[in-house]
Amino acid sequence: MAMMTMRRAVALGARHIPAAAAASSRVVPLRHMSADAGAAMEKILSAGLLRTQGLIAGKWVDAYDGKTIEVQNPATGEVLANVPCMGSRETSDAIASAHSTFYSWSKLTASERSKALRKWYDLIISHKEELALLMTLEQGKPMKEALGEVNYGASFIEYSAEEAKRIYGDIIPPTLSDRRLLVLKQPVGVVGAITPWNFPLAMITRKVGPALACGCTVVVKPSEFTPLTALAAADLALQAGIPAGALNVVMGNAPEIGDALLQSTQVRKITFTGSTAVGKKLMAGSANTVKKVSLELGGNAPCIVFDDADIDVAVKGSLAAKFRNSGQTCVCANRILVQEGIYEKFATAFIKAVQSLKVGNGLEESTSQGPLINEAAVQKVEKFINDATSKGANVMLGGKRHSLGMSFYEPTVVGNVSNDMLLFREEVFGPVAPLIPFKTVEEAVNMANDTNAGLAAYIFTKSIPRSWRVSESLEYGLVGVNEGVISTEVAPFGGVKQSGLGREGSKYGIDEYLELKYICMGNLG
Ligand code: NAP
Repeated sequence: MAMMTMRRAVALGARHIPAAAAASSRVVPLRHMSADAGAAMEKILSAGLLRTQGLIAGKWVDAYDGKTIEVQNPATGEVLANVPCMGSRETSDAIASAHSTFYSWSKLTASERSKALRKWYDLIISHKEELALLMTLEQGKPMKEALGEVNYGASFIEYSAEEAKRIYGDIIPPTLSDRRLLVLKQPVGVVGAITPWNFPLAMITRKVGPALACGCTVVVKPSEFTPLTALAAADLALQAGIPAGALNVVMGNAPEIGDALLQSTQVRKITFTGSTAVGKKLMAGSANTVKKVSLELGGNAPCIVFDDADIDVAVKGSLAAKFRNSGQTCVCANRILVQEGIYEKFATAFIKAVQSLKVGNGLEESTSQGPLINEAAVQKVEKFINDATSKGANVMLGGKRHSLGMSFYEPTVVGNVSNDMLLFREEVFGPVAPLIPFKTVEEAVNMANDTNAGLAAYIFTKSIPRSWRVSESLEYGLVGVNEGVISTEVAPFGGVKQSGLGREGSKYGIDEYLELKYICMGNLG
């Protein structure tokens, strides 16, 4: 993905562009957009939420060399805006600003930080529609899902505002009678947060909410594909009174920005959501300055349907787990394992449900499946389907590009998938549901665990003993039992094995931004 940055970058040279003029010149005239996109953009503009510059030390800034990147609508290919293509110099300034603000922000009382976060939450909710429209325009997800993401994303800010006041330390019974032993929890410092395009708001708030609640300050790098939602959210943070410098946003040349964050001794933590390959690089790169690291990486979720499952519950749950965001989530069911006794019945009902999905532009109310993020994503899906069919799988539904063109792909069901196929081994990240038959519980658990990933897993069964036994045997960080959508701000989200390190959301997610300090008070008499 990072390579796309440079390909889409437009060199403007080093000439000085006054900030206001530069900002407006980066917004593509509405008359050049389709009617739907133009109307959506007009709403966003009139709410003042189309920000097209980076945010450093509370100021909206261009790339220092004037370079920009186009932000495109994946449903139509139209250019929505141009944003700065920043690199190491802008990132260093953002780090310096976060570092100097850390001393004032971390000294505020928890209640003061909580109030600012609460206000940010309120502003996000009151601009729900404009944020959702932005997300649909730049990412492609249907409006209903985009509105859901605004609520979900905002919930991390609300939860962090509440939890800021509950960051308690400990008093430990001393081993000597003239001593008192205390544990303080203190903010880790400046945080570098790198986020993907598939949840343009929630992957940011899930990191920035707890970081700010603890007293940390942040440099965020959103994906080059979806910077507009990130910038709008940052604007609302400023309006909420989160001080200049506490939240900075840079975007552009991903490896350069990443390296600047990694090399800085002032950045004390890297938190990343994205591909496993980039996560490994960031983990290795953090070693030199021994930073704390949290990684939310790729998944390969099994969804196990047992013979005794309630078929309606299993179909509804698998459909939601597979086709949310057109299959482009890290917790999407990547392999649907179906026990032999229910395979035919499940396949028939599941295919019928998949046929009811409506592919289209996310701005249209009836759409339930938007486009994939870009042409590379479609080519990956095609490669996986070709690999599977060449090894004996059969396409039961879809299996090709959608007649709408662009990066639209037909919701697809593939039968008789086996463990030698790419569809089994890797994350397809598209609207393809592979069905894999199995005989015994043991075989299903072995197949489910036969991967380096360990993020989400789902099981469908009416048996309570089996729910327990299988949940405990699955090498995954999250397990949904008779439920396909399980993420919430109050529960710990994260993976095991190569799906990542650390947790986001819940009280456990707060801990990721804290250091423990032990204080021994001696000679107390
Ligand atoms: P990606 O290519 O790894 O990109 C993620 C972020 O890393 C983007 O901001 C990207 O910037 C940046 N990046 C790329 N190369 C970098 C480098 N060398 N140094 C620093 N930053 C770099 O992943 P993606 O395609 O956007 O996202 C899809 C992946 O994310 C999937 O594997 C999915 O499973 C995973 N994901 C995981 C979770 C979870 O919670 N576990 C949640 C959502 C997604 P540019 O986009 O600007 O190139």
